[in-house]
Amino acid sequence: MSGSTEGGLRLGVLDGDGIGPEVVAATTTVVDAALGAAGVPPVEWVPLPFGRAALDEFGDAVPERTLRELERLDAWILGPHDNASYPGGHADPPSGRIRRHFRLFANIRPARAYPGVRAAAPDIDLVIVRENTEGFYADRNMAIGSGEFAPTPDVALSVGLITRAGSTAIAHEALRAARARRGRLTIVHKANVLPLTMGLFRSVCYEIAAEYPDVTVTDEHVDAAAAHLVRAPADYDVLVTENLFGDILSDLAGELSGSLGIAPSVNCSARKAMAQAVHGAAPDIAGRGIANPVALQGSAALLLRRLGERGADQRVLTAAGALEAALGAVLAAGVATPDLGGTATTSEFTGAVERALGRP
Ligand code: ATP
Repeated sequence: MSGSTEGGLRLGVLDGDGIGPEVVAATTTVVDAALGAAGVPPVEWVPLPFGRAALDEFGDAVPERTLRELERLDAWILGPHDNASYPGGHADPPSGRIRRHFRLFANIRPARAYPGVRAAAPDIDLVIVRENTEGFYADRNMAIGSGEFAPTPDVALSVGLITRAGSTAIAHEALRAARARRGRLTIVHKANVLPLTMGLFRSVCYEIAAEYPDVTVTDEHVDAAAAHLVRAPADYDVLVTENLFGDILSDLAGELSGSLGIAPSVNCSARKAMAQAVHGAAPDIAGRGIANPVALQGSAALLLRRLGERGADQRVLTAAGALEAALGAVLAAGVATPDLGGTATTSEFTGAVERALGRP
């Protein structure tokens, strides 16, 4: 596997802000335990400057040296950032810059309820495959200039961008995901009011679906899908949609599964993968040792699965499955951080996951 070292993995680690350093450390710990139990040589962790500390030291939350080093890595773990608190002129979301730089076009966001965690939808088990580089996120849509502009102070416009190439890539990603699960895909769009952009997205998804005859494909308007998700979440297997709709629906699905604090995600291209929790930097609880690490630990499990599939490495796939199972077992045993109603600290929870993975 490229980016590997003597059979082990070489992975970037970017702490970020707020609770970032706490949940990132909790995540590298359980990744080491899962890979060790599966017989994979130790990871070479590559710490890289990112977030407020990088801004203070290098004048940039994503310094050039970080991007250069990431070029040489297949995968990394990204802590949350608190760019809203950065000084003026630096508020551009730093993870968005990394996604754009590496064209991490697929944002994979599963939502599954864990036994032991109270969930509005205990039977939810779905994956949202969100296009990550275009759609109705105006900041992603221009090579030069902004996709959002105001001819007068009282008139504002925003550009949406859907391309055949972008829709094709995300359709393949979603269809592969559906094939590996229960074989059902729902295309989520709004082609009734956006017939050109969302119409293109929908028709490209159906065209690509013809190459996957084993996957059953349907489509829904995004407003209907939001209601359907609340009414009968178990109806869904994999959903594919554009950037903005995917952001909103995945927060909804994450909350239905229990809490945003447990919602994992991974951002991918064909060559790169970045584990990133759905939640933010939670500055209100930073440094208190009570942050819930499940979202980032679950994101790391997704990352390992991706790396295992890409390199056809059964041991890495075993580690991914074991980490997911360990998180479920620890939560089912009632060990949880305060946000989920428990009393465990971040390190107590992480220790329980390590033990579930067989570490003494
Ligand atoms: P962003 O816009 O960057 O997503 P935000 O301000 O919308 O950030 P978060 O930083 O995710 O949201 O925090 C929202 C609330 O959820 C806060 O009260 C925070 O303490 C809590 N929270 C978020 N993540 C966690 C976590 N991992 N563990 C415990 N509580 C969390």
